[in-house]
Amino acid sequence: MYVVMVTPECAPVAKVGGLGDVVQGLSRELAVRGATVEIILPKYDCLRHDLISGLTQCYSGLAVPYHHHWIHCDVFCGFVDGLKCYFIDPHSHQNFFNRGIFYGHGDDAERFAFFSRAALEFMLKTHKHPDIIHCHDWQTALVPVLLWEIYQHQGMTHPRVCFTLHNLAHQGLQGEHILRQVGLNPGSLMTHDRLMDDHHLGAVNLVKGGIVYSNFVTTVSPRYADEIRRTHLGMGLQRILAVHHQKFGGILNGIDYNAWNPEVDGHIAKHYSPATVGDKYANKDALRSRLWLRQEFKPLVGFVGRLDHQKGVHLIFDAVSYCLDHGCQFVLLGTSPHGHINQAFRNLKRHFNDHPDCHLEIGYSEELSHLIYAGADLLLVPSEFEPCGLTQLISLKYGTVPIVRNTGGLGDTVFDADYAPRPYHERNGYVFNDYNWTGLESALRRALGLWHHYPQYFRELMLNGMRCDYSWNHPGQNYLNVYNYIKAR
Ligand code: ADP
Repeated sequence: MYVVMVTPECAPVAKVGGLGDVVQGLSRELAVRGATVEIILPKYDCLRHDLISGLTQCYSGLAVPYHHHWIHCDVFCGFVDGLKCYFIDPHSHQNFFNRGIFYGHGDDAERFAFFSRAALEFMLKTHKHPDIIHCHDWQTALVPVLLWEIYQHQGMTHPRVCFTLHNLAHQGLQGEHILRQVGLNPGSLMTHDRLMDDHHLGAVNLVKGGIVYSNFVTTVSPRYADEIRRTHLGMGLQRILAVHHQKFGGILNGIDYNAWNPEVDGHIAKHYSPATVGDKYANKDALRSRLWLRQEFKPLVGFVGRLDHQKGVHLIFDAVSYCLDHGCQFVLLGTSPHGHINQAFRNLKRHFNDHPDCHLEIGYSEELSHLIYAGADLLLVPSEFEPCGLTQLISLKYGTVPIVRNTGGLGDTVFDADYAPRPYHERNGYVFNDYNWTGLESALRRALGLWHHYPQYFRELMLNGMRCDYSWNHPGQNYLNVYNYIKAR
């Protein structure tokens, strides 16, 4: 099986959130299972170059048609975690990928539409004929459209396309110009059964195009697959997902236990396993020392993630004061794409500046995130919706009890200590239904009650989580099954 991932992110060199982790973890698992995997990424200036080995230019002068002219690209090749990656570096006045950040520019759609076309052009020119092209989210949703509308007529008839929806909150709504810029004809594509958005007449919906043109569409948990087909969480794509339901399914994300494992993690103070779970508390001490928190007998509640509306930012905000008022410590690591949210958390940070039980880190730090997963007792994930969520999976592995809202992948992976219809040894956290403060508070109160009054049961809950298998083992096989299924058709 020969798989090419076309993706905007791949951890650890280009990671904004879970998409980056998934591409890296899935690719490694596929490679372990004998597949040949290559990854095509933009050559962002903000790549973690220090984590790429053997980076060399392997193709120069790749001429990519764009907006009635050609943009010339160099392509670099290097290895990330043993995975072969190609980085496309366009030379043009738009400076597509030299912006210091991955996303957040007015022309993001143009940047990634160009990248999609460039990735296919590179495969064509280098005679790559993968069995599967696996693309991800709106950024690369034009890949299957371009493949069937243009590149199959140039000889690329072999590859089949798997398209993964990591988050339908971002669909790439654009004017028709986006199609013309990459050489597609809006005249034939702007119909209800192809790329025209169902609710914004005249707008191109890139994700819809990806769904229509791919051979198989996956999303990142079974629950989210169901939610986006049947409820408002489909964000307008329910109809097209229903039309294409026979080629659509949910495969739960895994996490890479080489990167996320307290037995081997190079970023934490002391390694531990279920057999030595007491050593976890050396990490709690280390986290407190690092963040100037007092060493005292009290639970430590954590949050790691993007401070986006989807993540329940107002609930996290309220949880900080609640925890401090109820004898806990609170540590937050996060950053927001929205300036006003960052500002609100900066103000909160200022308010608690000298508080010995609170640290809010408004920023991004891979290394600190590991220490928080290892050092915290409880981790909050109060999302309004969550396609899969990785932070709860990581926290389970680190014996940090997750408190999650019952939605998407959170509902598929966390089972309430008190109410889950499962045997006790399978219960691993706290789950609440209502997306409001009362909901979160009820779960938080139960969790803190257990920590204070029934430490031996709390410890069992930690161990139940640590024993869960949310590795890429099962999902890796599921993706191979999908690949084999579409390859044979
Ligand atoms: P999403 O993809 O919606 O951002 P996920 O829970 O699927 O959320 O994945 C989040 C990933 O990004 C996790 O690996 C988490 O540790 C990481 N992450 C998010 N924010 C930060 C941050 N500020 N610093 C370090 N890692 C972060």
